Amino acid sequence: MTDRRGLSSTQQQAIEQTETWGAHNYLPLPVVIESGQGAWLTDIDGNRYLDFLSAYSAVNFGHCHPVLTQAAADQLQKVTITSRAVFSATYGPFIQALAELCGKEMVLPMNTGVEAVESAIKLARKWGYETKGVEERHANIIVMANNFHGRTTTVISFSNDETARRNFGPFTPGFRTVPYGDIHAIADEIDANTVAVLVEPIQGEAGVIVPPKRFLPALRELCTERNVLFIADEIQSGLGRTGTTFACDHSGVVPDLYVLGKALGGGIMPVSAVVGNRDILGLLHPGQHGSTFGGNPLAAAVGLAAIELLRTGELQRRSAELGEHLHTRLRGLIGHGVDAVRGKGLWAGVDIDPYLGSARSICYRLLARGVIAKDTHTKTIRLAPPLVIERDELDQAIDALVDALAEARAEKA
Ligand SMILES: *Cc1c(COP(=O)(O)O)cnc(C)c1O
Repeated sequence: MTDRRGLSSTQQQAIEQTETWGAHNYLPLPVVIESGQGAWLTDIDGNRYLDFLSAYSAVNFGHCHPVLTQAAADQLQKVTITSRAVFSATYGPFIQALAELCGKEMVLPMNTGVEAVESAIKLARKWGYETKGVEERHANIIVMANNFHGRTTTVISFSNDETARRNFGPFTPGFRTVPYGDIHAIADEIDANTVAVLVEPIQGEAGVIVPPKRFLPALRELCTERNVLFIADEIQSGLGRTGTTFACDHSGVVPDLYVLGKALGGGIMPVSAVVGNRDILGLLHPGQHGSTFGGNPLAAAVGLAAIELLRTGELQRRSAELGEHLHTRLRGLIGHGVDAVRGKGLWAGVDIDPYLGSARSICYRLLARGVIAKDTHTKTIRLAPPLVIERDELDQAIDALVDALAEARAEKA
């Protein structure tokens, strides 16, 4: 690892320990974080960074949000895990608030995002067999090319990222892939055994890809017409990230199932859920599906506090307004080291001109300027600051990007 910032020996040691003892399933930026507050992270030497990754949108509310840490601290004094073998005092309020936020009737809580995706797949299949009348073991689900829905064996079965799949087979059958945003391809793939279409309303890991304007409304119509469930994976796009509570809201579209995670845990712990109506979630009966930790008292307390932060619409408004500013400034960089800018609200995919180097090399330059941002694929930087970020902090990070691009250009000249 190039030590371009002159890493302290304390940071070097921490990195070495991580590399020695941990499986190398990530390629972290060379910085060792000790604490965080709002949009800021501090490393173990006391250097501060603006966080433009937000733990892949798990930290939409900012680091250590006082309301959320208080909710967690209060619950830590009471009870943390009970399992669902008994009722708990925080579970009911959490799931009611979440159902109401989604305008739906029922919630199935899980922990990580991929578990919620798995749960939605199981629900869709069950609905297909028991309600739609699909022939047993023949259900199929339509998914999008370049999707990211997590890392379990079933979920990577319908990924087309070879790095995520190689040597992990055999894979789970029952999925059909179509190009993202191609409504005609979906219509062609739907047959009598199709139970669901699973989409990210904006593809996150693929590079913050926004589908054509008419896509989601057309998909809603198609799914209703053909009696197929519309499952929206809003794990990364939901809960305020794009300037609305859900990315689907931009198109005025309501899916049959919302799949939520990441920010639902308030940046404190893993909390995920599938949210939908009784006609689907009501199909689950005791013993058919579950999770020891799903909906535990601590998760429910933190999840409820997170939902309450979203209820006023203040964070969504911030994301929309500041996002407007972010995108205006980023678009100004097109032709000046940036090839394309996509996204909505405080969420942007920025394609770097390959002549200046990889997206990762620009992320290193950003790190040296006190901004933490992450590349996805070789040419895209994803920008997703906590929604509590201030306008001058946003400008500070964009200035750092301008500067980083100028430096890269100067080194080429
Ligand atoms: C992160 C993510 C997942 C997986 O969530 P984990 O908590 O990492 O399992 C699924 N879908 C989308 C769209 C995501 O961004």
